[in-house]
Amino acid sequence: MLRYTDSNQCRMCALVRHFGDYADSQKPCGICDFCAPEACLGQRFRSATDFELAAALRLITALRAGGGKSTGKLHAELFPEGHLSRNSFEDVLGAMARLGLARLTDEVFEKDGRSIPYRKAYLGSAAGELDEAAPIALLMKAEVKSGTPSKSKTKRGKKKAAKKQALPQRVPGSKAKAPAAPRAALDSRIEDALRKWRLAEAKRRGVPAFRVFTDQALKAIVERRPQTAAELLAIPGIGISTVEKYGATLYCLLHQDLR
Ligand SMILES: [Zn+2]
Repeated sequence: MLRYTDSNQCRMCALVRHFGDYADSQKPCGICDFCAPEACLGQRFRSATDFELAAALRLITALRAGGGKSTGKLHAELFPEGHLSRNSFEDVLGAMARLGLARLTDEVFEKDGRSIPYRKAYLGSAAGELDEAAPIALLMKAEVKSGTPSKSKTKRGKKKAAKKQALPQRVPGSKAKAPAAPRAALDSRIEDALRKWRLAEAKRRGVPAFRVFTDQALKAIVERRPQTAAELLAIPGIGISTVEKYGATLYCLLHQDLR
């Protein structure tokens, strides 16, 4: 799971391979956070620094000379002085992979009966037509601060992917549908209604209220007003069984006229 979250390749391709389909074309899906970083909701990206750009150019030269190297070996060879940490190095490689300048594969070798995963880097297909005199629009993964709107507006390839994108464009903290009543007043009415409903449900089941869901989850439901299973499931503390049991009731409850 950790390797998957940290992977620098199309999420869908990684899943397909993980489940054993090696005959698949491995054509990128075009809509995951790897394929379409500009459209990403959960991960933010920033432009690369000059230092990172220089590292990328150094990597391209090295991969031209001989690709198919483990990323650990490449890091040791190219940055022996330790100016670029291994993690930052992998981030640069990831940004290059997103542009098609590098291709990364997950490999495993056996040692003393243990399977040790590692990553191999190759020159990507886009490196051929790269104009090294022009600036490279490298998108680096940025720290995510909740409520920070995306600033990565870098234009680059995969325009098709952006067009295909049909995900809801809700930025955390944004108020998609402006409520008629002032937000705070409406929030407190929704919270009251939710608490009342939760208490009744807890009584019906003969359990304490927090077993239906916690106060924290309740507050997040008020704030985010989920209207789909995916939105409800995204709330910390809400599991699939809650969604199945109470989803429909909650959407109705959140939708009723509380003004
Ligand atoms: Zn993808």
